[in-house]
This record gives sequence, structure tokens and C-alpha cells, in this order.
Amino acid sequence: MNEIVCASGVELLMDYLDGVLPEDVRAAVDEHVAGCPRCIAFVESYRAMPRILRDATAATLPAEVEASLRAFLRARTTAFRSRH
Ligand SMILES: [Zn+2]
Repeated sequence: MNEIVCASGVELLMDYLDGVLPEDVRAAVDEHVAGCPRCIAFVESYRAMPRILRDATAATLPAEVEASLRAFLRARTTAFRSRH
């Protein structure tokens, strides 16, 4: 595993937050995030977003909204990644 940098790590962070990374990769991401304010901010905002959304749409389709939000975020961060 090479050094993780933010530009190449965004998609990795999504998988990290989804809990789907292999143990060794997850440990490497853990290590990077612990020392990187930008990644900490990303992780915190990503984790907060579905909860905020659920609060705002408490009575209607939270699962569908959360799923589409995640798809949207993935598309956006993939576009971001390709520009860097
Ligand atoms: Zn970082």
C-alpha cells in the first residue's frame, strides 16, 4: 500500500466509511485520516450528512434518499478525483 493522499483517497474514504475495505487498507486509511485535517473534515461531514437528511425528511423515504445521496456523493467525488 503506497502512501495515501487526499486526492486519490476520496473514493477510498467512501469505502472506508462503508466498512468494505480489507483490514490492511482500512488500517492505512485510519493512519492517514488521524493526521489529516482535510480527511477528518470529510469523514465528519460524510457521517453527519445522512443523519441531517433523516432529520429533515423524517416522515418520508429516508432509505431511498440516503441511497441516492450516497450515489450522488460517489459520482461527485469520482469527478473530483478525475480532475486531480
Ligand atoms: Zn487526507
